[in-house]
Amino acid sequence: MLGTEEAEAVARVLNSGSPLSSGRYREAFERRFSELVGTRHALSVTSGTVALELAISLLDLWPGDEVIATPQTYKATVQPLLRHPVTVRFCDIDPVTLNADPDSIATLITPRTKAILLVHFGGVTADMNKIMKIARGAGVLVVEDCAHALGGSYFGASPGSLADIGCFSFHSSKNITTLGEGGMVTLNRDDWAERLDLMRSNESDSIYAPAPRTLGGQAAAHTWMLHPGNAFSHDCTQIRHPGTNAIMSEPAAAVGLVQLDRLTDLINRRQEIAGRISATLAPFPFVRAVPEQPGVVNAHHLYTFFLDPGSGITRDALVGRLEQLGIEMRLRYFPLHLLPEWRAQGHHPGECPVTERMWFDQQVNLPCQPVLSEEQISYLLRALRTVLSEAETANRALAGT
Ligand SMILES: *Cc1c(COP(=O)(O)O)cnc(C)c1O
Repeated sequence: MLGTEEAEAVARVLNSGSPLSSGRYREAFERRFSELVGTRHALSVTSGTVALELAISLLDLWPGDEVIATPQTYKATVQPLLRHPVTVRFCDIDPVTLNADPDSIATLITPRTKAILLVHFGGVTADMNKIMKIARGAGVLVVEDCAHALGGSYFGASPGSLADIGCFSFHSSKNITTLGEGGMVTLNRDDWAERLDLMRSNESDSIYAPAPRTLGGQAAAHTWMLHPGNAFSHDCTQIRHPGTNAIMSEPAAAVGLVQLDRLTDLINRRQEIAGRISATLAPFPFVRAVPEQPGVVNAHHLYTFFLDPGSGITRDALVGRLEQLGIEMRLRYFPLHLLPEWRAQGHHPGECPVTERMWFDQQVNLPCQPVLSEEQISYLLRALRTVLSEAETANRALAGT
């Protein structure tokens, strides 16, 4: 949600006369972001998708490696793996939070497991204490997709600081936005920060080995300069990934800074709307909201609730009725292992039974973004009450027969 302060920030950058990619605002935004999240580094990029792509490049995946991933997330969490020669093993999820189930992860760990990809679904942090214990015990890296989680917390710590790498999105639908598109990678390792900084500015994350010697009495910047034929093949053996241009523009970063100032208000508003939806659901015993999780502050990127199986109305009929009443309904997210690109790699129905059951039969997502007006919220709550009352009547009829 953007207002006059954001517009003023853009105008300030445009009027400053400095190049729109000079990096002053970008650096300030990154500094503030790393302080907020509590990591040594925060590197901005142009989208959450690019953040994930570059983060996954840092994992140094080799043929035969295995990566465990949650199937209940937006496709961008796992999609970059299609470009790496690895085997993806989708874990199943916890039906209460829709986050990766630590017990399922534990059963999928093998000596070849290199990494785990997670999301904090809807803004509820995954069970990181258990997951990190499993990962550390097995020497496995963990990437948090924090696209929903900015502004939430886990036992006082911020998502994005709970594992090895955090990836954020500033798409206009997310908890804050940098003019519609943007992303951030958070991490502690200095060598990774250096590689990522190279990769986002069109350098490969190369390491030129061995150490420089001399060239005509001068120190050579790189050893490949010493080769008589300037053979890049000679000693640039450690180039791992090509770069890309993912530099955030100055107006975007300036807006990001203003949005960080407003983060608490924006999250409070999401929580307030969520609280009112929960109060509306409470009288109906055949639906349940995501309950509070120990130590977790829910950033409420999404409002998710579940319909009991065997209710007088199916999930699809419930969603259809809400749509009829003018509520914009979007189910998030189709289970990844059933998407064509993953089916083509042998993934199949039945692979993640909890995920499939929750998505196809029980899960409902409602809007709860701060941009909703009071009028829209009252309308939403009224429509919800109407549809659930109809379902209750149908339930009673069912019980009576
Ligand atoms: C939005 C989102 C992304 C991708 O972010 P973009 O900035 O839109 O590229 C990745 N993962 C999840 C879970 C998301 O919701």
